[in-house]
Amino acid sequence: MNDSVEKQSNQSKAVLVINCGSSSVKFALIDLMREELLITGLAECVNSLDTLLTWKVGKDKFTKALPEATLVDCLGEVIKVLPSDVEVIAVGHRVVHGGEAFTSSVKIDADVLEGLERCSNLAPLHNPAHIAGMRASQKVFPKLPQVAVFDTAFHQTIPPHAYLYAVPYSWYTEQGVRRYGFHGTSHRYVAGETARRLGKPLGETSLIIAHLGNGCSACAIEAGQSADTTMGITPLEGLVMGTRSGDVDPSIHAFISKSLGWSLDRVMTALNTESGLLGISGQSNDMRTLVSAMEAGDDRAKLAIEVFAYRLAKAIMGLTAALSKLDAIVFTGGIGENSHQVRARALEHLRVLGVQVDHELNAQNGDAEQGRISKEGSLLCLVVETNEELMIARETLAIIAL
Ligand code: ADP
Repeated sequence: MNDSVEKQSNQSKAVLVINCGSSSVKFALIDLMREELLITGLAECVNSLDTLLTWKVGKDKFTKALPEATLVDCLGEVIKVLPSDVEVIAVGHRVVHGGEAFTSSVKIDADVLEGLERCSNLAPLHNPAHIAGMRASQKVFPKLPQVAVFDTAFHQTIPPHAYLYAVPYSWYTEQGVRRYGFHGTSHRYVAGETARRLGKPLGETSLIIAHLGNGCSACAIEAGQSADTTMGITPLEGLVMGTRSGDVDPSIHAFISKSLGWSLDRVMTALNTESGLLGISGQSNDMRTLVSAMEAGDDRAKLAIEVFAYRLAKAIMGLTAALSKLDAIVFTGGIGENSHQVRARALEHLRVLGVQVDHELNAQNGDAEQGRISKEGSLLCLVVETNEELMIARETLAIIAL
């Protein structure tokens, strides 16, 4: 790119979606007309001797070493690998935490950057990196509008009785301690796509969506809106995840700290990075690896999968409290979309809801029309692929069109 990205007009138009971490930046270019992914890529180990840019166009993969490249340098290199026959009209930034300040996507300006800084304490690993990414992107694409799309925003419709913890109220009013929820972009996309497949207006659709990737969360969608979700003030709460514990007795911190002589930080590291599927199995956080190990007779892998599936089912049951009806249970994310073993095990625990799995459809990740994995007459269970980049691109377009 070149100036052409900003100047040419009779080309197909696209949004560049950026997800900036502390030492990496993921990007994806989405064609808006065809809603198609044109290119994805990652710059990793930014600001180090090992800085590496990798990108994928269709099935072709490319890499370029960029030793000691800064974030601005990396984004400058990204420009060079974008297709020249596409006009980038905006940049959409994925933001993990918008606190209570951001209830929807916004065009990034000085006030927004300030607001993000104010809620950085809620996501100290993520938000400062996002802010750095926005500033770098503003430098590299000075003429393009930039939009922030928040993982938390979709959940701002959750009512107080579902978002408040039963702790001193001043923790909420003064420290912002409450359930925020995450994966909002995915839950929102999947809710819309499910309503489309059901042939219903989103506003009349009530669902439970299980987003099961490396991070996992379930969300109750009542009349198209998030009514409750399993993640909390941070993405540690709720379901069992790849390396995160999900729910534990809060006194586990003090118990382990006393019995092992660990600092609070050490306990938090264990709950975030040494727990979940990895913690129980003792071998991997990757569901594919664990399913293979279970099928080869590994008992700890089996146990990890069973805990994962049971806790998911229990959370789904809990979330029904937020709903007036339930049109479907929907699975998405890497595990949700691909692991028939996990889905079958979780749904086994939900027979009381009237769930009957169609094992043939489940084994093929759902029927061709809707992604259905349940029998006729059962509570409907579906597999729906998520597409967070597309949702961010749509949101970005909607905001710049305002
Ligand atoms: P992220 O949350 O990082 O976006 P993904 O949504 O890609 O992650 O999900 C990653 C998880 O999906 C991993 O645990 C991976 O093993 C699992 N997964 C991907 N494909 C399969 C599969 N065919 N069977 C079982 N698990 C799978």
